Amino acid sequence: MIREYDSFRIAGSMNIDDLITEVSPDIAVCPECLSEMDSFARRKDYPLINCTCCGPRFSIMEALPYDRPMTSMKSFMMCPDCRREYDDIMDRRFHAQPAACNLCGPEYFYSDSSRDISGTGAVLKETAKQINSGNILAIKGTGGYHLMCDALNEAAVRRLRLRKQRDAKPFAVMFRDIESLKEYCRLSAEESEELISWRRPVMILDQIKPLAPSVSSGLNTTGAMLPYMPFHYLIFRLIDTPAVVLTSGNLSEEPVIKEDTAAAEKLGKISDGLVCYNREIVNRCDDSVVRVIDHKPTLIRRSRGYVPRPVDLRINAEGILALGAEQKSTFCMGRGNQAILSQYIGDIKNQATFDFLKESVDRFSGLFRFRPTALACDLHPDYLSTQYAKELSRETGLPLFTIQHHHAHVVSCMAENGLDEPVIGVSFDGTGYGSDGTVWGGEFLVADLKDFSRHTYLDPVALPGGDKAISEPWRTAFSYLFRYFGSSFDFMSVPSLCKAGERKLYMLLEMLEKNINCPVSSGAGRLFDAVSALLGLCTTETFDSEAPMRLESAIDGKTDDYYSFTAGKPVTFEETFRSLLDDIKTRTPSHISARFHNTLAMVILEVSLQIRRENSIKKVVLSGGCFQNRYLLERACNLLRKKNFVVYTNRRVPPNDGGISLGQLVAASKLRE
Ligand code: ZN
Ligand code: ZN
Ligand code: FE
Repeated sequence: MIREYDSFRIAGSMNIDDLITEVSPDIAVCPECLSEMDSFARRKDYPLINCTCCGPRFSIMEALPYDRPMTSMKSFMMCPDCRREYDDIMDRRFHAQPAACNLCGPEYFYSDSSRDISGTGAVLKETAKQINSGNILAIKGTGGYHLMCDALNEAAVRRLRLRKQRDAKPFAVMFRDIESLKEYCRLSAEESEELISWRRPVMILDQIKPLAPSVSSGLNTTGAMLPYMPFHYLIFRLIDTPAVVLTSGNLSEEPVIKEDTAAAEKLGKISDGLVCYNREIVNRCDDSVVRVIDHKPTLIRRSRGYVPRPVDLRINAEGILALGAEQKSTFCMGRGNQAILSQYIGDIKNQATFDFLKESVDRFSGLFRFRPTALACDLHPDYLSTQYAKELSRETGLPLFTIQHHHAHVVSCMAENGLDEPVIGVSFDGTGYGSDGTVWGGEFLVADLKDFSRHTYLDPVALPGGDKAISEPWRTAFSYLFRYFGSSFDFMSVPSLCKAGERKLYMLLEMLEKNINCPVSSGAGRLFDAVSALLGLCTTETFDSEAPMRLESAIDGKTDDYYSFTAGKPVTFEETFRSLLDDIKTRTPSHISARFHNTLAMVILEVSLQIRRENSIKKVVLSGGCFQNRYLLERACNLLRKKNFVVYTNRRVPPNDGGISLGQLVAASKLRE
């Protein structure tokens, strides 16, 4: 399976397909290299061992053709033995661009406030000593720095949280091997296959046994991965723990750090020591995140191991540059019938992240010899990506297509499934700019690649305080109750609202009654927020999407019950909230959460049936950040299939805003035709 991505050189001119194939994702170290690391003198314990089948690719590439002088290996001269292997067509390092050995290749170093250590043996020994004693290290990875500490040492993990100023967002964990992983996480055949693949993503798995409590802060899942760099294997030989936290080395919201100087400066404050190697990371690339949903691996964050593999299209997208949305930003370039998606960029409201976007657009343009002939962006006038697109369009005179956010979600899913016909598009997420200028996010569209109409949507609710309501779900909960039961409702009778205090509740009531700073939103995410807050699972968020994540995490056991609702235009939830409030007095949050999720799946079915009756469309496309929720997506898929719908979901690009740029690209291609 690795052989497929062997690097091979093509003489003379290359066509687009060859060009794109040439830029391979980074590949986890292969079994042959691992066994060579055990025995072969020149590469005994060589912490950057690789061959034609494995090793860094995208992360070290400066330009094409993929040749050593065009990579950050250019400063390392091969020793005569490595050279001989590199030139020998029968050797497994024939034209392996990053090939090197203990004599000639890049090496690792350790440093902290008092010492600098070199020599692989000594560096490994010190690294292990630090981890074993509960310290935090910054370690240079494939596409950027990581922060590492013992995942079973609560004091260490808590210190990392404190220093990284990351309140409760779960940390990814690397396990020594699959056996130790299985002790802590449930693993299905599908999950196992992706987990051990050469792509080595972080997999969202169900927990069996907890690690240190601060690792996943009360959620019932663990982001788990296996070693993929030779150095990871070497370090696990020496440390006592079977699992380490391995989280992106960055300051909150900034891109993962790839430069050694920046690492020393910025991560020096978080870590107790720094482990680096002297080969430059050219292209920054985070760990990818995958969750198996409905028996298939679904990308949540698409980066290392997946980028820059193209998505094949049934439409010519040549020359289109789509700039994505704002959070979890990516961009996308069209070359012929292929879409090349960037790595995960992040939230571009952060200036450093926005710079990373622009710098990556240039890098990809160079790598793929891309010349834009048209631009695409979101409809939201305030997104920095939109402003960037407008600026580019003004400077170059290129046509600009603005694509509505939820239409782009639906098209991203249609594109990766090869659909080009009218579909029922269900797009559930937190926020997106609607065609009418209000905030959308619980949308039922009748859509094709080019256009859409809004069939119905979830009942818009006022968000008292605007963005503040998004980070404080109790406000949204209050607002739903106000909407359905009015100002005379006894808000203090709801325990989770009562906690906010009478004064705050009164203030909110006044805001709603007088409509002060209360923008409305049909976002499905808000409904999850409200229920999570009513159940007391999350009244104030400490990280993005915490409320819906905790709500999903609360489900255990099975129930097919659901709450009543009215599937009109819009879909309203008065009966839902009335029964839910009753349930709060007698049932567990786990039961109520399941019942609420079942309700939304039922809403999806009901409205899909309505649309089918009107338009005879049988294909349903489910996209948007809410469909990272495994329970909701599986439930909706099952209900729809029972009624003979054909259901399509995102797999190869994220259902969240990380997939938006693909949707924009394809919609724009169609509009251009
Ligand atoms: Zn190898
Ligand atoms: Zn060598
Ligand atoms: Fe979205």
